[in-house]
Amino acid sequence: MDNVQQKCYDLETVAREKGIRYFLISFIDLSGAQRAKLVPASAIAGMQKNGAGFAGFAAAFDMSPADPDLLAIPDPSGLVQLPWKPEVGWLPADLKMHGQYVTQGPRNTLKRMIQRAADHGITVKTGVEAEFFLVTPDGAQVGDEHDSSVKPCYDASALMRRYDVIAELCDAMQSLGWEPYQNDHEDANGQFEMNWKYADALVTADRHVFFKFMARAIAEKHGLRATFMPKPFMHLTGSGCHAHISLWQGASNVCHDPADKMELSAKGYNFVGGLIHNAKALCAILNPTVNSYKRINAPRTVSGATWSPNTVTYAGDNRTHMIRVPGGGRFEMRLPDGAANPYLLQAALLAAGLDGIEQGRDPGEPLDINMYLEGHKVQNAMRLPLNLLDALRALDESAVLRGMLGDGFVDPYLKIKTADWNAHCGHLSEWERQMTMDC
Ligand code: ADP
Ligand code: MG
Ligand code: MG
Repeated sequence: MDNVQQKCYDLETVAREKGIRYFLISFIDLSGAQRAKLVPASAIAGMQKNGAGFAGFAAAFDMSPADPDLLAIPDPSGLVQLPWKPEVGWLPADLKMHGQYVTQGPRNTLKRMIQRAADHGITVKTGVEAEFFLVTPDGAQVGDEHDSSVKPCYDASALMRRYDVIAELCDAMQSLGWEPYQNDHEDANGQFEMNWKYADALVTADRHVFFKFMARAIAEKHGLRATFMPKPFMHLTGSGCHAHISLWQGASNVCHDPADKMELSAKGYNFVGGLIHNAKALCAILNPTVNSYKRINAPRTVSGATWSPNTVTYAGDNRTHMIRVPGGGRFEMRLPDGAANPYLLQAALLAAGLDGIEQGRDPGEPLDINMYLEGHKVQNAMRLPLNLLDALRALDESAVLRGMLGDGFVDPYLKIKTADWNAHCGHLSEWERQMTMDC
């Protein structure tokens, strides 16, 4: 397989054919940051074979300065010519050290979960809704001073004032064959969403990484800054990254049962059961920052709703729960936010869902109520973690996610994220001063 790929995608030849002068060999580290090396086409043949070398300690991995090179082996099938600078070819990469795929590598972790699904004869297809804000370059304010309505969702004028950015992004997706189909102004001032068609989980993850990179680059060109931060402004709705999921065997969606009241098959219910069973621990990956917990469990925003879940519940076509089943043989996990690492987001969903299938987990009855208004009436609805530390502890204690993702992933991940939490705790906030000065 490797040899076949190498032959079809000889990057030196591709560079000559497509006029690529440089390749950007890219990976995502455990903090969710994208790291890369810019490699001239003249040197790509060696890099394609041996990888580009990085010091893993300098990126956010559980590695030491004494470790050998972390080698990023580009995956030529993921090549994207930057639509705004076609002489550069972007390449997602898999991480190797000592000749082995690195267990803590996010893309490697997703590939292991995809293989586990394949062992069940399943291909998982997913689509993501990567909401983002366009803000001023210093990040302090919404980038459009006229965008101040208290209910700005779908605001036609505010959308059109950002036409240049949105259309450039959408044209780019079109040219890349992603099949984008709609763009809108979202529920917060300055917030947008752009939708493209679902695909195999790895393809969606690579596109999600590239989308974030591209949105930042194109916003910058227009004097703005794109941010996927989960809750950049306390009074406004935060940026989620809903994930839609379906399960396939060949051309057949085995999540779909038209005879069921929610059009979901037994396998689909089990997958949902796995997401529910593992939800608290999943938060450590789907809501991976201190800031993430200001989006979930949030008080109502100025628009009237946060659109983010508070409880581990599911329902039909109802947006007030953690999981929404809109029909047609797919379901929507509304928990992930804009800070989620695109590879780990998919890996975590597959891990929890496959656990549901393997253990035949029952999600229970759906709760078809308005959770924002009537949630208090539901006895025993499981609450989501209130902060990053609670979520990290839940992941630490999750035998299921440890078993699925591997201790070789979970332990390094917890180490990097616990360091974030500790850094946060070392920060003296203005709120603390106000509340404690006169104690
Ligand atoms: P909504 O805002 O109603 O949640 P969107 O249209 O914004 O929905 O996003 C829906 C996402 O779900 C898109 O990425 C779409 O491609 C994806 N999707 C649609 N059908 C499926 C499916 N069968 N399996 C996985 N993803 C799907
Ligand atoms: Mg949407
Ligand atoms: Mg949605």
